[in-house]
Amino acid sequence: MFRAKIIRIKGRVQGVGFRPFVYALAIEFYLKGNVQNNMDGVKILVEGEVVAIDAFISALSVRKPRLAKIDKIEVTDTNVEGHQDFEIIPSSQDGKSELIIPIDTSICQKCLQDLSDPNDRRYRYPFTNCTDCGPRYTIIEGLPYDRPQTTMRHFEMCIACQQEYENPLNRRHHAQPNACPTCGPRYVLYQDGKEADEEAILQKTASFIEDGKIVALKGIGGYHLVCDAMNEQAVQRLRDRKRRQHKPLAVMARSLSAVEKACAITAYEREILTGVEAPIVLCKKREQALLPENIAPNINTIGMMLPYAPVHAVLFSYTALDFLVMTSANPSKLPMLYQDDAAFSYLQGLADVIVMHNREIVHPIDDSVVQIFMDGRQQLIRRARGYAPEPYPTQENVDGIMALGSQQKNTFALGRNHQAFIGPHIGDLDGLEMLAYEEQELHHLIQWFGIEPKLIVIDKHPLFSTREIAKRFHLPILEVQHHHAHMVSCMAEHNALGENSFGIILDGTGFGEDGNIWGFEILYGSEKSFERKGHLSYSPLPGGEKSILDPWKNTIGMLISMFGEKQGTEMCNRLFPDRMQEIQVLKTMVSRGINSPLAGTCGRLFDTVAAMLGLCLNQDYDGEAAILLSEKADIELLNKVEPYSYEISNVSGCYCISFKNMLKEIYQDIQLHKEIKVISSRFHQTVISAICDIMKQVKKEKTERKIFCSGGSFHNEFLAIGLEKNLSKLGFQVFLQKEIPTNDGGLSFGQLMIGQNHLKEE
Ligand code: ZN
Ligand code: ZN
Ligand code: FE
Repeated sequence: MFRAKIIRIKGRVQGVGFRPFVYALAIEFYLKGNVQNNMDGVKILVEGEVVAIDAFISALSVRKPRLAKIDKIEVTDTNVEGHQDFEIIPSSQDGKSELIIPIDTSICQKCLQDLSDPNDRRYRYPFTNCTDCGPRYTIIEGLPYDRPQTTMRHFEMCIACQQEYENPLNRRHHAQPNACPTCGPRYVLYQDGKEADEEAILQKTASFIEDGKIVALKGIGGYHLVCDAMNEQAVQRLRDRKRRQHKPLAVMARSLSAVEKACAITAYEREILTGVEAPIVLCKKREQALLPENIAPNINTIGMMLPYAPVHAVLFSYTALDFLVMTSANPSKLPMLYQDDAAFSYLQGLADVIVMHNREIVHPIDDSVVQIFMDGRQQLIRRARGYAPEPYPTQENVDGIMALGSQQKNTFALGRNHQAFIGPHIGDLDGLEMLAYEEQELHHLIQWFGIEPKLIVIDKHPLFSTREIAKRFHLPILEVQHHHAHMVSCMAEHNALGENSFGIILDGTGFGEDGNIWGFEILYGSEKSFERKGHLSYSPLPGGEKSILDPWKNTIGMLISMFGEKQGTEMCNRLFPDRMQEIQVLKTMVSRGINSPLAGTCGRLFDTVAAMLGLCLNQDYDGEAAILLSEKADIELLNKVEPYSYEISNVSGCYCISFKNMLKEIYQDIQLHKEIKVISSRFHQTVISAICDIMKQVKKEKTERKIFCSGGSFHNEFLAIGLEKNLSKLGFQVFLQKEIPTNDGGLSFGQLMIGQNHLKEE
């Protein structure tokens, strides 16, 4: 039977050699028609025998190019027009849609083989790449993506490389960063500030690492500090020099089997680790610890990744070590280190040896971080290398909207037609350097994508630096409430805009409509507007948002405000006997209302309980206390224990939860030396139970049954899975974020979608 069909493919199908692949496949199956890129993917028209068309369609997914990612294939019938051949035709929209920025991807198997073959001309060459792998975003100066518009333009290809580049049958055909030892970039090694005259630089580097030294290594997206992860003293030295005592360090393992020696991983985690994005995956430590405790102190996971750049593979080839610490070299509160001059001066004294190369990085990018829940669900904690700035297709037209994100874990988002580009993870926007960095990346992407901004969306917080950046554009500014943006981010990720739904936002801090600090919010609404249906009762936070790093100060604020000066102070003195003097000062601040804004946030509630239990009084990094507390919970117990007591009141239609009784019972349990895992499990159960109680009430008022969950606390799998399970039992359909970070990294996406609605309504 002769038929004509239209096949629409969505996913990562542009800029990855997909159309030539489709072309070759169509020829192979004797099909006529054409293929073209359009706004949200690739559109194929085929005419031929039904059997051939079916075989063609299944071959599309099975044999797709390495970097292609197919999210959806839609097939519809159409009329036979009698095409005579198969051709690649120009894009259906204006040329803009083609200008996507390819992502940096991990080295492919074939290139790995080239590296390890002593007879290959690229044997141990650390810049080996091909059409299926290598750096992209980080080396691009302008679009379209072509060698003269990358930092590879400084290297003239040798004859052999040029031939590969021009030969359509070669796997390095049009591989823009193509290079070899004759013509390409090279590494140099600096020791004591002097350039070391060494032939085998990476061999030398490996032996320095074996000797326990700390090496600064320039890679794809910036500089890493590297040391032997099995060498406890070396790891400690790195921590001391970086002044980071607790923050977990990422580890690069030689291979999957090495990962499995240290961690118990699932099939899905294996798949993510070996994927083209090659992120850091948070893997469960084995009971019998292999790596020293100071890699990830007091927590059950290690951030593991596999060698993703050729230089990593070469480094491992020179040593028998299985694990290397690979942590970004930038000082805290400063942008990624990627420019050689800055790196060179900063790294003196921090690293024993500096190993840099002469391929310039234009756009620094961090390693991405992925977490897989025990039920197999994926969460993106840090969306950077391998993911950004890949476009995210939107149902709505988001053209010309620019959303500047949050102050912490900042990302920005830009809209072009039906695509949202979420920029890479920038970090916390504290300090002028970070602001300058954010603005630089923002301007680059605006220019590259050819976007003409019409509207800037920012967070309502009066002190967020994004407000300063926004003002400099002299464009209309829309202010959006923090948790509304979180909710819409999740709704948009699930293509659920336009209808009213519920939002449960459990978060660190965010500026509330009433001027207080919000972060434990039950909302109802859509991208158009929202109402607050429930929240946590407020308590003073002495020191304000600056106290985020001092969980124990939350405890003082909560206990003194809830139990009164006398009883509250007594409780605090017993919990923190060596801090009695400071408690007096904080007590005065709280009772006189000096620099003690009111807050009701999930993050701060976790901090309070973690500090009460002595798990974490001062944090080395944001989220430490909450992680330590959640890791003490026990999934078996969680389903069995009774929640602590709490009270819910209704103030003119909005429910308010008070955990005063819970804190008292926890305090008593601590005095009775109850097991921490029981206390933590009961605490989690209490939070879940209180939210469910409110949802039972609001369920009576509304007919909608979808709940969108967002906010940093949803990285806590006990909370996320527990809530989902219990809310489902109540008849709700619960959605969590997956590809867009649930933390503030996903905020810009929600802001963008609220901005889109604002423009539509205007
Ligand atoms: Zn390759
Ligand atoms: Zn060459
Ligand atoms: Fe937030």
